[in-house]
Amino acid sequence: MLKIAVQKSGRLYEESVKLLKECGIHLNNGNKQLRTTAENFPLEVFFLRDDDIPQYVFDGVADIGIVGENVFLEKNKALDLVYRLGFGKCRLSIAIPKEKQYASVEDLAGLKIATTYAHLTQEFLLKNNIDAEIHEISGSVEIAPGIGLADAICDLVSSGSTLFTNGLKEVETILSSEAVLVATKDLSAEKTILLDKLLMRINAVKMARNNKYILLNAPNHQLENISAILPGSKSPTIVPLATAGWSSIQSVVNENDFWEVIEKLKALEAEGILVVPIEKMIM
Ligand code: ATP
Ligand code: ZN
Repeated sequence: MLKIAVQKSGRLYEESVKLLKECGIHLNNGNKQLRTTAENFPLEVFFLRDDDIPQYVFDGVADIGIVGENVFLEKNKALDLVYRLGFGKCRLSIAIPKEKQYASVEDLAGLKIATTYAHLTQEFLLKNNIDAEIHEISGSVEIAPGIGLADAICDLVSSGSTLFTNGLKEVETILSSEAVLVATKDLSAEKTILLDKLLMRINAVKMARNNKYILLNAPNHQLENISAILPGSKSPTIVPLATAGWSSIQSVVNENDFWEVIEKLKALEAEGILVVPIEKMIM
């Protein structure tokens, strides 16, 4: 049985549970117990505060965990980062009152910086050779400059609206973060097999989210040109249509190139283009 720690409630909870669900793992946590066992995969799930997850995985209470990279790096535990999950994106940034001048990182020298990320802030200051004071607090960091507790803050930002409403401006980004899957360094052979199975499923879900299935009709004289821009997993599937001189083409397109590919297809006389979401994708 593999034991996984996920956030009990908060910004990573929904996506973590959704990911397991899309991996075909059914959880029975309707009433939000602290732990639950999956019905159809040898997985036990622990619901914890995100800050505690690195420690629990390090201590072997859980074998793996889903946590923000920011928390993983701040806690500085010797764990393996096994997969970048692509959700919970945010950045850890230094911000100062918006009316203050700021030209370069040197302007942080001598300031008092409030943060819950003392370790990462210290690392950043050391790397840049800046002598500043770190004031570690446990929450509501964004109000610290306004109440005279600090000159600057180092905190998580996504849209920047919290900074804005507190009269602050972002001046340095010290980390770009997303949710990651971490694992203990001494996983048994049996658990490693289970982790590999889980990773195969996570990968299939992630690939499916990033790709679309595309079907279109095209005149035969364009087939070669169209095949060249639609690599698919190997090469596109081409089926002749009942109408002479025409074929149906099927392939997979990455979300990132999607609109560009559609424009090229139109230029190559493609018609009746259908785009379909993919449920799972196994390479
Ligand atoms: P807990 O009760 O588990 O300690 P928390 O209040 O510390 O929860 P959340 O605010 O739920 O934590 O954030 C969890 C994680 O979500 C963060 O560590 C970070 O990785 C990610 N995250 C994404 N966007 C943001 C954001 N705008 N602000 C804060 N965290 C964010
Ligand atoms: Zn937390």
